[in-house]
Amino acid sequence: MPQKFILDAMLGKLARWLRIMGHDAYYRPYYKPGEIRSRVNEGRVFITRNLRCSECRKEAVFLSPDQVGEQLKQMHREGYILVDRTIWFTRCMICNEPLLQAPYESLRQNVPDYVYFKNPYGISYCPSCNRFFWPGTHRQNMMARLLKWGF
Ligand SMILES: [Zn+2]
Repeated sequence: MPQKFILDAMLGKLARWLRIMGHDAYYRPYYKPGEIRSRVNEGRVFITRNLRCSECRKEAVFLSPDQVGEQLKQMHREGYILVDRTIWFTRCMICNEPLLQAPYESLRQNVPDYVYFKNPYGISYCPSCNRFFWPGTHRQNMMARLLKWGF
C-alpha cells in the first residue's frame, strides 16, 4: 500500500510535486486545531519542517532541506515514496484528486485546438476542479525536473 501524506502549511510546493509523482498528498495552507491529528489518525503520515509544531507526534517525518527537490530526495531515501513513473501525472496537482480519462465528447470545448487535433487520447481531467491535463511542454518540463533530481 502506498503511503498517504498530510503536509504542514509550509510545504505547498512539496505537495504539488508529490501529486505530480502520483502520491496522495493532503495539503491546506491553514489547518483547524486538531485537523492534522485527525488526518494522522486516519492513517496519513505527517510531513513537516516545523520541529516545534504543537501537533507533531513522535512519528512525524521532519524534512531538513529547504529546496523541494532535496525534500523529495529525502522522502525517497527514507523509504516514504517509491518512484513509479507509471503513476506520474495521474493525480490533480491542484486538488490531489486522481485524474480520470477525459470523455472524448468533452474535449472539443475544454482543450485547445492544437491538443484536440494532435492527440485527443492522452487527455485526462480532474473530477473535482474540472481542469483538463494533457501531455505537452508543461509536462515535459516537469518530467525534466524529476529526471534531473534523479527520479
Ligand atoms: Zn483538480
